[in-house]
Amino acid sequence: MSDCLFCKIVSGDIPSQKVYEDETVLAFRDINPQAPVHILVIPKTHIDSAAAITAQNSGVVAHCFEVIAQLGKDLAGGFRVVSNCGPDAGQTVPHLHFHILGGRPLAMEMA
Ligand code: AMP
Ligand code: ZN
Repeated sequence: MSDCLFCKIVSGDIPSQKVYEDETVLAFRDINPQAPVHILVIPKTHIDSAAAITAQNSGVVAHCFEVIAQLGKDLAGGFRVVSNCGPDAGQTVPHLHFHILGGRPLAMEMA
């Protein structure tokens, strides 16, 4: 999608602080971190949100979680994985992404 912020990060048109990249998945630091460690993990192909995951595209979503597991190994105390889906959940970028939050004890509230 040519007007998608995260597609532009994938293409390199917008810079990012990459922490991991392979053929199908990219991970980079959130520009407005909510915790000492705040990483976004995204599929390189455009998927609107968690509500658009299907049998046809779920392979790359599974791979996102393999990457999350690897990145989480540096967070000995644990970490949280969040994916906001739709406006009521606060999704501001309509390209599927998983927030990894960690580096300190996190609030227990989920919503
Ligand atoms: P969400 O609100 O769940 O859609 O998350 C979108 C996230 O993208 C927010 O945490 C933003 O801080 C982050 N973000 C927006 N623009 C950029 C950017 N250029 N580089 C890195 N993170 C960004
Ligand atoms: Zn996109």
